[in-house]
Amino acid sequence: MKAAVLLSGGLDSTTCLAEAVHEYGSENVLAISVFYGQKHIKEMDCSEKIAGYYNVRRICIDLSDIFAQSNSSLLSHSTEDIPKESYERQLEKTGGEPVSTYVPFRNGLFLSSAAAAALSWGCGELYYGAHRDDSAGNAYPDCSEEFFDAMNRAVYEGSGRMLILRAPFIKLTKADVVRRGLALGVPYELTWSCYEGKEKPCGICGTCRDRIAAFEKNGVTDPLMEQQEKPI
Ligand SMILES: [Zn+2]
Repeated sequence: MKAAVLLSGGLDSTTCLAEAVHEYGSENVLAISVFYGQKHIKEMDCSEKIAGYYNVRRICIDLSDIFAQSNSSLLSHSTEDIPKESYERQLEKTGGEPVSTYVPFRNGLFLSSAAAAALSWGCGELYYGAHRDDSAGNAYPDCSEEFFDAMNRAVYEGSGRMLILRAPFIKLTKADVVRRGLALGVPYELTWSCYEGKEKPCGICGTCRDRIAAFEKNGVTDPLMEQQEKPI
């Protein structure tokens, strides 16, 4: 194995997987999916299908116990509902604090756990799909470039300089990520981004809004929304 990829089954991480496969070939890529107590496992099912599509080995890590005390609205035991408005509106309400779907230090935990697994599998690089829009306005501080730089340094030193982090989209917008993914032929119909685990994306949660807009900016319709619009 040469590279590991944190694969949630969403748009960004799937594009990230496509980048790693493009660079190293499927036989040299390990996908790592994490269960953390999220409200639905639809994205886990999607990550399995995507790993199958790319013919890469996939492992799963269960970190749900660590978030047992968190009330992040993304977690199954949370008393909070998932907000049905744009991140911009949510940040107005939080006054610049992280949004309710922020899971405390999730990326820090995911990256250190995945780094340990990646080293065990002999990988020299660990990819993850953070991009510029995620950290805008401090919505998800563990997606920022500052966080990435600090974490990369920690992983590099703590691995005996054997492992580096790669965040190929850290300076890009979500629309840029989609542009890159379309060029790589990413099967976006297999991905899942909505915070609700229903049959179809809700279309109004923060992540649905951003995803739909990212496709629109590329002049195409999100294949998941296209499926929704087709008459039965
Ligand atoms: Zn949604």
